[in-house]
Amino acid sequence: MADLVVVGSVALDTVRTPFGQVTAALGGSATFFSYAASFFTQVRVVAAVGEDFPREHLDLLRKRGVDVDALEVLPGKKTFRWTGEYGFDLNEAKTIDTQLNALAEFKPSLSDVHKKAPFLFLANIDPDLQLGVLRQMERPMLTALDTMNFWIEGKRDALLRVLREVDVLLINDTEARMLAREANVIKAARAIIAMGPRVAVVKRGEYGSVMVSGGDFFFAPAYPLESVFDPTGAGDTFAGGFMGYLAQRGLTDAASVRKAMIFGAVMASFAVEDFSLERLKRLKSDEIEERYGAFQAMVNFER
Ligand code: AMP
Repeated sequence: MADLVVVGSVALDTVRTPFGQVTAALGGSATFFSYAASFFTQVRVVAAVGEDFPREHLDLLRKRGVDVDALEVLPGKKTFRWTGEYGFDLNEAKTIDTQLNALAEFKPSLSDVHKKAPFLFLANIDPDLQLGVLRQMERPMLTALDTMNFWIEGKRDALLRVLREVDVLLINDTEARMLAREANVIKAARAIIAMGPRVAVVKRGEYGSVMVSGGDFFFAPAYPLESVFDPTGAGDTFAGGFMGYLAQRGLTDAASVRKAMIFGAVMASFAVEDFSLERLKRLKSDEIEERYGAFQAMVNFER
């Protein structure tokens, strides 16, 4: 089992979907990621929150064995807040408001334990901050990155700089198109590979995800859920299952990457069954194994 470090947002989210609404609920890319990955390996979160961040949220992460030593509480600051909305097409989040707050001037300095971690995930956050963390790592075996429209539009050059130095990009289809300036998702994935990463994983919500790498191509379906309540965090939870599995095994070969995509899809399928982290809080390891088996059965066919 290898250590996995994540830098990303720890947030208070206000989310409205056609099925309900939550106000200032626990969210953030690093939160969903670390919670999901904690089912597989030792995760260490690098992030900043403000003085208003409820203690119970920290306790929740600690209870799952997530290392929060590098989760700084910045005096006089407020926690990052995101307000989003979904229509009946739950694949597309509409950002209503983003308040960076504590994340605006966060400059983490990593401890030796963090620097030596073999697996690194740069979750959705300011690309300059992602690069700052990446450059402090000693010899990571695998580095992966996620981002979103906010940064693709707002800090494209910084994003392209960090992209040159990572192994894997995990991104959703709309953002892949926006980043690559290419309508076709497969062409967009190839264009992204030309920007630096050797593997591009494009997540397509309820339509599954595709992986493009050199001559290799893999498709992972999404679990056919009949009730999806809140897709917030699906991408980060997918990444948590993906990186968590690879770190647990200490592997980065092509066959392991394929399995990792299924574990990603399994974790994301649980995350969307309820608001915030509610479904993940009730999740048992047995259920992960069981759903992995269901995925296998779902795509198994004879020659
Ligand atoms: P996902 O649904 O997996 O793409 O990610 C949802 C999470 O991303 C939410 O919990 C938000 O708090 C967080 N988020 C939204 N906008 C940003 C941003 N600009 N930077 C970092 N995190 C963000």
